[in-house]
Amino acid sequence: MTTDKQFKRAARELAEREGISYTAARRRLADAPEAGVSAPLTTASAAAEDDQEPPRIYPTAGAPCPVDCDGTAHPNAVCWLWRPEDSKHVRHEVRRAAQLPNGRAGELCHRYEPPTPGYPNGSFFAREATWLLALVYAMLTDQRPELRPGRAELWAAVETDDQAAIDALMEPLDRAAARLLTKVPEQWWGEVKPRLDAYADFVDMDDRELRTWQEIDDRHHVGRLVDQWRRAWKERRGSEGYMERTGVLWSAPKGWLDDLLVEQHGGHGDGARVRLTDGRPAIVYAAEWSEAGAPVAYRIRELEPGRHGNIGKLVPSLTSDELVARDLVAGELDDQA
Ligand SMILES: [Zn+2]
Repeated sequence: MTTDKQFKRAARELAEREGISYTAARRRLADAPEAGVSAPLTTASAAAEDDQEPPRIYPTAGAPCPVDCDGTAHPNAVCWLWRPEDSKHVRHEVRRAAQLPNGRAGELCHRYEPPTPGYPNGSFFAREATWLLALVYAMLTDQRPELRPGRAELWAAVETDDQAAIDALMEPLDRAAARLLTKVPEQWWGEVKPRLDAYADFVDMDDRELRTWQEIDDRHHVGRLVDQWRRAWKERRGSEGYMERTGVLWSAPKGWLDDLLVEQHGGHGDGARVRLTDGRPAIVYAAEWSEAGAPVAYRIRELEPGRHGNIGKLVPSLTSDELVARDLVAGELDDQA
């Protein structure tokens, strides 16, 4: 029996015994690899019935392997598949931007979560949504593997120590995430959240063969993200005595992705004040993306003269909420009212 099958069997047994989910059991075992994997929970005789060998421990190659490594250069050791964190001589933020799913999500939050007077590092609630973007990255690369940059290309890009090279490779994934995520409540509750719920169920049941320790590691991180997802929507009694959910500021990562893609392709970013071709002033709060290029449309709120403490300024109308094609935006307003 491979270590892998042993691991899965141990996880299944632990899950059954403790009445916890399979994913939770896997993670518990991964946290205690000695107890979990090397000492199988099955009895020796049960293992013998499957005429399996006990798991063997192989050392790993001493340095990241070339992408086309066939293993002959390091007999009796398993391949070390390069990951961004292995390129120690490049800047931390470059490695972070290349690391999926958590690193890149953190990097975009760091770049685009704007500081506000009360929150010099960006809104706490928005930063907290970083894990949601990571979960979206995990789902998209799982469901559409072609969105994940190839190891060789990513390695070469990281070695340049240049964020633009990483961003270019990640663009298909970022664009897919920007097209999926939204700031429109009906879309979030009606389409995006159900999709992520389904993915969370898939991850819990995921029984695909794990071939390398990196894959085990990756699966572990996705499991943690799914746990976070479940916690966010779980009802519990709050300090006021009412049932409540933590939730997550789900609109925040959409803004980061829009800003990133506008930086690369032009267009109007989050919060841009524009004039429409019919003369109305408006503020952009989200962009709609096609397969390539600049935004094809914008979600806007009309700007109207302030009537209360903000007389003489143009302020977003809270009741207006429109989708306008990019041709209907004449240009940016030069007022800073
Ligand atoms: Zn190798």
